[in-house]
Amino acid sequence: MLVCNHTRTQYPLNAPIWKSDSGGLLQIAFLPTHFQPELLAQRPPSLWRYREALPIAPEAEIVSMGEGFTPLQKITFEGFSVYFKLEFLFPSGSYKDRGATVLLTQAKNLSVSHIVQDSSGNAGCSIACYAAAANINCDIYVPADTSAAKLQQIEMYGANLHKIVGNREATAKAALEAAQNTYYASHVWNPFFLQGTKTMAYEIAEQMQWQAPDTLILPLGNGTALLGAFIGFRELYELGIIKKIPKIIGIQAANCAPAYHLLHKTTLPPTPQKTIAEGIAIAEPLRMTEIIEAIQTTQGDIICVEEEDILLHWHKIAKKGYYVETTTAAIVAGIHQYKNNKTNTDEIIVSMLSGTGLKSNKK
Ligand SMILES: *Cc1c(COP(=O)(O)O)cnc(C)c1O
Repeated sequence: MLVCNHTRTQYPLNAPIWKSDSGGLLQIAFLPTHFQPELLAQRPPSLWRYREALPIAPEAEIVSMGEGFTPLQKITFEGFSVYFKLEFLFPSGSYKDRGATVLLTQAKNLSVSHIVQDSSGNAGCSIACYAAAANINCDIYVPADTSAAKLQQIEMYGANLHKIVGNREATAKAALEAAQNTYYASHVWNPFFLQGTKTMAYEIAEQMQWQAPDTLILPLGNGTALLGAFIGFRELYELGIIKKIPKIIGIQAANCAPAYHLLHKTTLPPTPQKTIAEGIAIAEPLRMTEIIEAIQTTQGDIICVEEEDILLHWHKIAKKGYYVETTTAAIVAGIHQYKNNKTNTDEIIVSMLSGTGLKSNKK
């Protein structure tokens, strides 16, 4: 069931809509009661091993490139260790492929022939990638200053690329106009995207023998990784498969930290500044209410990191052999800040290396 966040109006799962009649955001009300860990043993290492946990019709043709089930790798820093999902190992280079494989499967199942999407980068790459795999026409709107490598990637997949001059909001507006007559494959509006990103929680739980970690430290822009993880762990908890939902810590760039200021009741600077963590530079996250709810329900927090710290940790993590995006370096910087304020050394922390460095511009 699709449910409007504001009016609670309900729509069937196969309605070809991406917002409610009143213009509200949609959520998917679904508890995967047919999911059982015992089903998994013989299945390939892809996120589609959690098929019963996804609200996709059983007869649907799945649009997959064998993605997911990324390694959960322990990385040791000075004095502490953290487990990281290696999410830069996806077909298009970021975890956004989790959302794209599920969203495009749903679009294909609805016989959609044309989609529209807007992004500051990686979501556009993911949607263009899976639209190519699904053989669905695709228009991607990006801010004109998006990194050249991402623009090239989107065009190589065969998507129609529209570069919009102005801020991120101008890009969203152009896509919204185009979406009036097509299916909007937005990673923020379309609730099937979060059904894909929730599979990271299933993977973490399975890789930890169905134990939940104590703490998740995740990037926070629009919250597609964070909300997906919350949904996934909440489902596993409600199904009785894990005994607790991990505490969720969101990481924002200090230069653009609207959720941090809302949670901490501090004053938001009137204009957001540029940040090298371009993937989380979101001045007005649409799902803000859900984000704050996820943080508060899990007794979590939001931390923000300064530009020089992001840059420092981008270099440091590369020296360990992980060439990631600067956005991802913000997560690593946030982990260090979190650990600096902590004495509990037993805490099991899971985080993610969200995107490859291969498409970042030199900093
Ligand atoms: C999208 C993205 C994020 C953050 O995701 P949000 O959904 O905006 O919170 C983090 N890292 C990378 C590499 C991304 O592409």
